[in-house]
Amino acid sequence: MPTYTAPVKDIQFVLHDVLNVSNSDVPGYSELEADFTNAVLEEAGKLTGDVLAPLNVVGDHEGCRLENGVVYTPTGFKAAFEQVKEGGWTGLDMPEEYGGQNMPYVLGTAVGEMFSSSNQAFTMYQGLTHGAAAAILAHGTDEQKTKWLPNMVSCEWTGTMNLTEPHCGTDLGLMRTKAEPQDNGSYKISGQKIFISAGDHDMADNIVHLVLAKVPGGPEGIKGVSLFIVPKFLVDDEGNIGARNGVSVGNIEKKMGIHGNSTCVLNYDEAEGYLLGDLNKGMRAMFTMMNEARLGVGMQGLAAAEVAYQNAVDYAKDRLQGRAVTGVENPEGPADPLIVHPDIRRSLMDQKSFAEGARAFILWGAQMIDEAHRKEDKDADGLVSLLTPIIKGFLTDEGYDMTVKAQQIYGGHGYIEEHGMSQFTRDARIAMIYEGANGVQALDLVGRKLAVDGGKHVMAFFDLVKTFCKENGDDEDLKDFVEPLKAASKDLQAAGMYFMQTGMKNPNDALSGSNDFMHLFGHVCLGLMWAQMAKAANTALANGTTDKEFYETKLTTGRYYMARRLPATGMHLARIQTGGDTVMALAAENF
Ligand SMILES: Cc1cc2nc3c(=O)[nH]c(=O)nc-3n(C[C@H](O)[C@H](O)[C@H](O)COP(=O)(O)OP(=O)(O)OC[C@H]3O[C@@H](n4cnc5c(N)ncnc54)[C@H](O)[C@@H]3O)c2cc1C
Repeated sequence: MPTYTAPVKDIQFVLHDVLNVSNSDVPGYSELEADFTNAVLEEAGKLTGDVLAPLNVVGDHEGCRLENGVVYTPTGFKAAFEQVKEGGWTGLDMPEEYGGQNMPYVLGTAVGEMFSSSNQAFTMYQGLTHGAAAAILAHGTDEQKTKWLPNMVSCEWTGTMNLTEPHCGTDLGLMRTKAEPQDNGSYKISGQKIFISAGDHDMADNIVHLVLAKVPGGPEGIKGVSLFIVPKFLVDDEGNIGARNGVSVGNIEKKMGIHGNSTCVLNYDEAEGYLLGDLNKGMRAMFTMMNEARLGVGMQGLAAAEVAYQNAVDYAKDRLQGRAVTGVENPEGPADPLIVHPDIRRSLMDQKSFAEGARAFILWGAQMIDEAHRKEDKDADGLVSLLTPIIKGFLTDEGYDMTVKAQQIYGGHGYIEEHGMSQFTRDARIAMIYEGANGVQALDLVGRKLAVDGGKHVMAFFDLVKTFCKENGDDEDLKDFVEPLKAASKDLQAAGMYFMQTGMKNPNDALSGSNDFMHLFGHVCLGLMWAQMAKAANTALANGTTDKEFYETKLTTGRYYMARRLPATGMHLARIQTGGDTVMALAAENF
């Protein structure tokens, strides 16, 4: 069965050598001394490696079951959830006044990677709760915060996000769920929501559903959507749980992966609900937390790639097949281990250089979210908003590909279930779909984000790259990083220019290249991350680190990314510049 070891040292490297968090002026960051974060990460590493990872395969095999309207989670989930709650992990980056520990989001994200790597399906129960609690925190009245948040921060009550309906997923303006106003200020919610993650289960006393619905007579389409708090059980003013509300589970979906997470059809039949935020501003309320939610899903791409890679490395060192082309390396054995073969190395290097680059990208994104919230830094907010579709779309596309590569290292043993490798691939697949399918992320990037504030944020990104290249252009030790980064950044600028020149004239030209652009941009981001990591590694080596091997390995891995992965930008640019002619040429009936 697969194993998982939390990559504490790699995370510490990003937090301290690269982002230098404890010296940052972001409020709360001074607490993030290396010893402290190390202790937190080690503790999270034990819980995820020893408790959650072994349950991953149990969740996959057993799945959830619906009996008499009640959803039961797989064996062991409930006890593990108790352990997670007792450890205070659910409120790590939530405000102290509601029972959290008020740690910066960057630390919550670092810990979140471990949870997700060890057991994505399990982690979603607390992940969805975190998202719902964050929306109440941002938009709730004081009364609503006091009533709902303490139990959600502790995960005594869990949360869900209800957007999707059978006929509306991406196009939420088509929504039909209704909210009828009542004399006492509450609403009666009726309609059907589908695909609701963690929609029902046996691990919490109550479930707080956040539901998008339309108040009859309101504006048409998306402008008439509002957000409501709809609990599974009603709660009185003293916080006591009362009668069952009018929400029931119609079904749980059978699906490709994340079997341990209950994906529910929820039927609302005049359920009591309470408006959260302003009337008809439901999308704004739901999406306030969009950067975090999408960063969290991007992290699932990294998390799946990391755990799959760890197991692939073990297998490649253990499995004996063939001999090294340059001469026998294991004379005592009947064959050499897989890891001697260049093509296996290529695959492992793809995976390793992706996971480490993606980790730096995500933690940088989380740091910008902290800057936006804790310092009200509008530039950080603008830049992370621009990069969010890339974090979500590029990292989950690539993360999925990496799980396939890890599975491929096992040959046929990766395809059969015995080694557990297919679960990583099956579980990782959903991250490309939910929280806005990746095609729509690319659309958002090209169609909207590039032009926000007159293109200010994309210019800020180019400035970051330019400044890095200028400041480090003469450093011989960084030559392998600066030159490829410059070339890739030129490709990105040329693509941006192409969109500016052609996009207005023929939107099909721009949108036919949106997926390529998201990937081109993603590679440049990872190139920038690797250049920064290389600089940090060189600094540590120059300062006489006692861990030379670790830092030299970083440099070698980074050189691989710059030489072998980053040149993909040229291919993406070439495709983008062909425009939409070949993409749109066929009439629909000729498909
Ligand atoms: C396991 C699972 C868990 C989920 N959890 C939740 C949850 O907790 N809460 C919730 O509300 N929903 C949840 N969802 C729903 C998920 O968010 C939607 O499936 C997703 O948003 C896509 O909607 P759809 O399936 O209706 O696809 P559609 O909207 O029909 O889209 C189909 C395809 O067309 C593409 N597309 C659509 N419009 C455009 C366009 N304008 N331009 C280009 N391409 C376009 C999309 O990218 C997609 O590839 C979950 C789904 C699954 C499978």
